[in-house]
Amino acid sequence: MADLPLPSEAMADARHNMEICNACRYCEGFCAVFPAMQLKREFSDGDLNYLANLCHGCQGCFYACQYAPPHPWGINVPQAFAALRVESYAEHAWPRPMAKLFERNGTAVSLLTALAVALVLLLAGSLQSPDVMLRAHSGPGAFFAVISYQAMVWSASAVFLFALLAMAMSTTAFWRASGGGTITAKALAHALHDSMTLRNLGGGGDGCNYPGEGFSHQRRWLHHAMAYGFLLCFAATSVATLYHHGLGLVAPYDLLSLPVLLGTVGGILMLIGTAGLLWLKVLADPAPAARAVLGGEYAMLILLAGVAKTGLLLLAFRATPAMGWLLALHLGFVLALFLALPYSKFIHGLFRTAALVRSHQER
Ligand code: SF4
Ligand code: SF4
Repeated sequence: MADLPLPSEAMADARHNMEICNACRYCEGFCAVFPAMQLKREFSDGDLNYLANLCHGCQGCFYACQYAPPHPWGINVPQAFAALRVESYAEHAWPRPMAKLFERNGTAVSLLTALAVALVLLLAGSLQSPDVMLRAHSGPGAFFAVISYQAMVWSASAVFLFALLAMAMSTTAFWRASGGGTITAKALAHALHDSMTLRNLGGGGDGCNYPGEGFSHQRRWLHHAMAYGFLLCFAATSVATLYHHGLGLVAPYDLLSLPVLLGTVGGILMLIGTAGLLWLKVLADPAPAARAVLGGEYAMLILLAGVAKTGLLLLAFRATPAMGWLLALHLGFVLALFLALPYSKFIHGLFRTAALVRSHQER
C-alpha cells in the first residue's frame, strides 16, 4: 500500500488545536467555528480547511484561552487557522503550477505589481512619441490618444476573464475537497448576507478583539470601506462601458457624471479602507498572528491602495500634461490587481463565503 502523505505543519497544528478545543468547548458561543467543530469527533484535512476558512480571525478565542502560550499546549487557534488558510488557497489554486505564488505571497504580489506597472509604462513609452505622452489632451477620446481603446479593453478584459475563471475553479475545488454537498438557496442567501454585512466581525455587538485584546469595530468598518469602494469602482467601469457602447459617449466624462462620481467615491473609500487596515496591521498584537502570511496581506492592501491612489491622481490631473504617464501607471496597477486576484488574499472572500454556506447548511 502506498504511504499516505504526511500532514503539513499547519495542518498538524490546526488538528492539535481543534482536538483540544473539542474537549474544552469553553469558546462554543464565540463564533461559527466552535459549533461546526462540535459536530465532529475526528477532523479530516477537508474539515480542517473548512473550519480554517470559517474562522474570521477575530482573536477572541486566543485572549480567552487558558491553554494559550506560555501554557505547554500552546493553543492559538487564530494563528493556526491563518497559516492553514493560505495552504488551502495554494492547494486549490488553478492552474496548479500557480500554487507556488502562495509560498512567499508578499514577494510574489509585489513582483507581479512591479512587473505589470513597468510593462505598461514601457509599452506606453515605446509605442507613443514623447510629444503625445507629455502633451495635455482634452475632449472626448483624450485617454485613447495616449493608449488606444482596443489595447486598453482587450488587455484588461483578457486578464480579468482569466482571473474570474481561475477563482471559480479554485473555489469549486475547495468546496468539493472540504466536503460541501449540493448548495441550497437558503444557505447561500444566509452566507451572502453574512459576507456582505461582515456580520461575524460585529462579534454580537461589541466588535472583535483586533488590533489587540480590547473590543473594536474598526476592522469591520474599514473592511466595508475597502470592499464597497472596490465594488463602486467596478460599477464605475461598468457604467462607463455602457456609456461608450450603448450611448456613444466617449471618456473622459464630466466630474458630475455617474461613472466619475462612482469612481471618485469608490476610490476615496478604498483609500480610507486600505490605509486604515494597514495601520491596524502595524498596531496589531503579533501573538495571535501567523507571521508567514503577513507579507501577502500587506502586499495586497498596498496594491489596492495603489489602484485607488493612481485612479484619483489621474482624475485630478487628467487635463494636464501629466495625464499620459498617470494613465499608464493606473492601468499598470489595475492589470497587476487583476493578475493577483486568484493568487492573493483576495481569494479568501470566496473561500470564506463557501465555508459560510456549508456552516449554514449544517445548521
Ligand atoms: S480556544 Fe482555548 S478556551 Fe477556547 S475552546 Fe479552545 S482550548 Fe478551550
Ligand atoms: S479567532 Fe475568532 S473566528 Fe477564529 S476561531 Fe477564534 S473566536 Fe472563532
